[in-house]
Amino acid sequence: MQSAPEALSAIPENRYAEQLRCGFRFLRFSEPLEQEYHQYISKAQARYQKIAVLLGLGIWMIFTLVDVMRLDLGQRFPDYPAPLWSLLLVRGSIILILSLLALRLLDGSREHYGPKVVTATLLSLVLGTTLTIIFYENLNVPISNSVLLLMAITLFFPLGLSYRSNLLLAAVSLPLVVLPGLWLLAQAQQVDYLRLCFIFSLALLICAMGAYVRDHTQREQFLLLRLLDWQANHDPLTALHNRRSFTQHLDLALRQGNRESATVALLMLDIDHFKRFNDHYGHQAGDEALRQVGRVLQHFARRPMDMAVRLGGEEFALLLYGCDAEQLRTLGEALRSGLATLNIAHAASPTADHLTVSMGARLAMDGESSEELYRRADALLYQAKQAGRNHLTLG
Ligand code: GH3
Ligand code: MG
Ligand code: MG
Repeated sequence: MQSAPEALSAIPENRYAEQLRCGFRFLRFSEPLEQEYHQYISKAQARYQKIAVLLGLGIWMIFTLVDVMRLDLGQRFPDYPAPLWSLLLVRGSIILILSLLALRLLDGSREHYGPKVVTATLLSLVLGTTLTIIFYENLNVPISNSVLLLMAITLFFPLGLSYRSNLLLAAVSLPLVVLPGLWLLAQAQQVDYLRLCFIFSLALLICAMGAYVRDHTQREQFLLLRLLDWQANHDPLTALHNRRSFTQHLDLALRQGNRESATVALLMLDIDHFKRFNDHYGHQAGDEALRQVGRVLQHFARRPMDMAVRLGGEEFALLLYGCDAEQLRTLGEALRSGLATLNIAHAASPTADHLTVSMGARLAMDGESSEELYRRADALLYQAKQAGRNHLTLG
């Protein structure tokens, strides 16, 4: 059995496998993988935003309701001391911010918020929580300061920010907690407050470690999922698409071709006397020849809808989108001469002294099914073999 790294190194030209091999200790992939991951993860994380905003709003409203009862706000209205008015202002502002965010998510005018809004909201929550604690202190009402710990957890909640942004947010939130305390609290209260700030920083540190592990695991999972998907659709020897991927893509290309009035061409290719090649040069040399043929074929699949495929064994296909009869002929000949310039010696071949291929190619007719197109191109390939091999038959 192969070990994991050996299995990975057997997959050619795959950036997911390459990234897994290199590792990502600093939680950053090489470009453009990083961008691809970011799109994937922020879409997944954004799904939590609705729940998070509603939950935050609910919790904040419960705290506000507790204020109303504990501080006897109904009875005392409107003779409130200044810190109480300030407290209510903070409570009200946060409720307003969260309600606006929730409304836009619920009525569908926003699917999710970008990093800037998320960061600004979290920072206003930190400030709101800090000021609440300070005003309570100034009102001489005991309050459970552990709400700041809740805040530390919330800062690292997956809401669409990258780990680096999360760290930055935590760093900025620290002075946002410490400074208002030093400014608004009496000196006697400051020692206790600084102790609280210290515990808050420890909580941030622990949450940051948890978030690191989460991010690392998510990145690994992303690479493995993409790798799995890649392996399901590609041939490991040549890194070309496999038959499974080809079948799906051929259907899609034909449908799209019908819609856009674009022609679709299918070229089938079979290496001549490959069994003799293996027998003469060995299986490993055979594998290397297949890889070389695969590379040339890939070179001819230039447009986004084109596809180079290893159908199995020494049989390949090239699907060309938006290619007319003349282009198909030119391309077929160019492919044959491209393969000839590889000049892979084949001493055991009765056809030539180098490795040759036979090809059958045709344009899809209007309304032709993928099965029909495949069958007819295959028949043309058979004709090319009958015609003495090293030949291209167009239909
Ligand atoms: P023809 O010109 O009629 O196509 O003859 P051929 O020998 O190429 O065709 P045949 O179907 O008789 O043999 C195909 C050979 O391809 C048999 C097999 O050994 C070889 N082959 C199939 N898959 C692989 C592979 O992955 N690696 C190697 N090295 N050889 C392979
Ligand atoms: Mg064959
Ligand atoms: Mg063959």
